[in-house]
Amino acid sequence: MRFFRAYTLAVAYFVAATIILILTNWILRRWGVIMFWITPAIVLIYVYLESFLRILTTKPYEGSLRAKMLSSLKKFDVLGVKLHCSRSTLINAAASNWPPMRTIFFTDGALSKSNEKELMGALAHEAGHQKYYHSIKRVVWLLVLSTVLSVMNIYLVPRTGSLDLFVIVVAEAIIIAMVVCAICRQQELAADAFSTKHKHGQGLAGFLQKARADWQEHGYSFNVVRAFSGYPSMELRIKKIKHKQ
Ligand SMILES: [Zn+2]
Repeated sequence: MRFFRAYTLAVAYFVAATIILILTNWILRRWGVIMFWITPAIVLIYVYLESFLRILTTKPYEGSLRAKMLSSLKKFDVLGVKLHCSRSTLINAAASNWPPMRTIFFTDGALSKSNEKELMGALAHEAGHQKYYHSIKRVVWLLVLSTVLSVMNIYLVPRTGSLDLFVIVVAEAIIIAMVVCAICRQQELAADAFSTKHKHGQGLAGFLQKARADWQEHGYSFNVVRAFSGYPSMELRIKKIKHKQ
């Protein structure tokens, strides 16, 4: 079942990428200038919609740690952030910075399998993402990069053949993916450092260790997730957190 899903996803991804590349080729040839705003607009709509859907499909967290978590957020000077829980059984947590939907998410798996100290450590990490507005900064970087590439394309497109253009578009997609992955890595470490600075490093390290074991137990290879999301290795993160304590 899992293999089937991964296989279907890979095929869907390839088909979607090919269609986008052909469309990009077509759009670039005819309306090179419009690429200035088409790419950034698609990115913005996608991230905003994704954030909105995530709020709609999760429910507010009303558990026993709610009051303590909210007072912790106040201490971090991270205000106006909602707490939500999602139905996944995997141990995970996430943050969305988009106003007016600033939210920290915990999965049901995280809430049931982690102790208080670990959850407070994970909360401090997600609060770091909120404090530094990481998801917004990621998109701003993406917009800057896609604008630079679009300007470059306006110059390059009239001077290249179809095959060259295909190579350029693929190379640009790889450049964007690599830059975004590097930013994600840097942001994860910055959020870990925020948690450690507020004396939640030990709890966070415990949360990460439990999450890694949980993911492995469910048959997810963390290396595959890491390759796609740009996350730094759990070993490196835990080592850095323990070093800073
Ligand atoms: Zn994070």
